[in-house]
Amino acid sequence: MLSRRDFLGYGSALAAFASVKINPLFANRLPGAFSKGYGSALPSQAQEPDSALLDRARALLKEAPLIDTHNDLPTMLLELHGDLSRYDLGEVQPSLCADIPRLREGRVGGQYWSIFVESATQRTHTSLHEAMREFDVALRMIRSQPGFEQARTADDIERIHKAGRIACLLGVEGGHMMENSPAVLRTFYELGARYMTLTHWDNIDWADSATDRTEHYGLSGFGKQVVHEMNRLGMFVDISHVSADTMRDALSFSRAPVIFSHSSAFAINPHPRNVPDDVLRKLASNGGVVHANFIKEFISSKNPAWQQQRTKALAELHTHLDADEAGKTRTRTHGRRSPRLPTTSIIFGMLQASIMSALARISMMLAITRWRKAWMM
Ligand SMILES: [Zn+2]
Repeated sequence: MLSRRDFLGYGSALAAFASVKINPLFANRLPGAFSKGYGSALPSQAQEPDSALLDRARALLKEAPLIDTHNDLPTMLLELHGDLSRYDLGEVQPSLCADIPRLREGRVGGQYWSIFVESATQRTHTSLHEAMREFDVALRMIRSQPGFEQARTADDIERIHKAGRIACLLGVEGGHMMENSPAVLRTFYELGARYMTLTHWDNIDWADSATDRTEHYGLSGFGKQVVHEMNRLGMFVDISHVSADTMRDALSFSRAPVIFSHSSAFAINPHPRNVPDDVLRKLASNGGVVHANFIKEFISSKNPAWQQQRTKALAELHTHLDADEAGKTRTRTHGRRSPRLPTTSIIFGMLQASIMSALARISMMLAITRWRKAWMM
């Protein structure tokens, strides 16, 4: 399982590298490189793109805004206590997953900033509180930059893009944050959220996650009402992270196109979080889209095999260590330093104390005897 911090680490490593070598305009070169691991393979495989194709791509992206549906920068900033003064987003910041120069280099016209809170906060009933902290930092971040402007409608995105700024939208990554309250969902919309991912890594009260046990077999009755309310408000139903049955239910019950904000294809890599072929076919008739995720755990079919090899190697290592430890124990048992049971040690200690005590008494008696003899003499 990929922890949030690992995920962000990969994101920032990718972004840091992207600032040096990779322009998303020639992202078609990435999959082969990423399948070998971004750490070593990318630098040697980056090539100069065809300048005519690049010019054409830039012209197209000037006309039509490129929209990225998932960026974790607000979470990274919140981990820095929400202190926006620590980094100037107007300059390249290699330790962060995004900044304005790199968004511009990638010709990003619209950016959904992720409002993310761990789904484990369901157990402490703090999901909504933490979500408010994320909204706060994301909105402050957007307003702190002249190159950003918050978009609330499709028309806003086009207007902001034409004005040369980056249109900023918000996406709530996990239905647990609404704490089963349609009122909270509507308030998220008022704050600017334009999609909500139905689950994150764990099941919630009304929907199954791809990475948890089967509980609701998709969406519960309340889950279907949530989908309808999102349709009514004008929020995308995001079915990244959810189980395949939840994907199918959302596609059946949504009255508007749905999105996968960051998912990959199950047929390429059978990770439970990826999209199966029957869902992809259903998505086409729904008019929805999949925004591809390029985290290596989700795109590389080699990763499960690598994980299995790693688990096997670790098990073998533990077996060797255990055998080695058992061997040492046998050696001690057969040698002079045989281990003693605690009670044996206690008894032995008591005997030692008794003997020492007896010796002490004998020594004292001898001393007294010598003293008496001396005194009597
Ligand atoms: Zn995610």
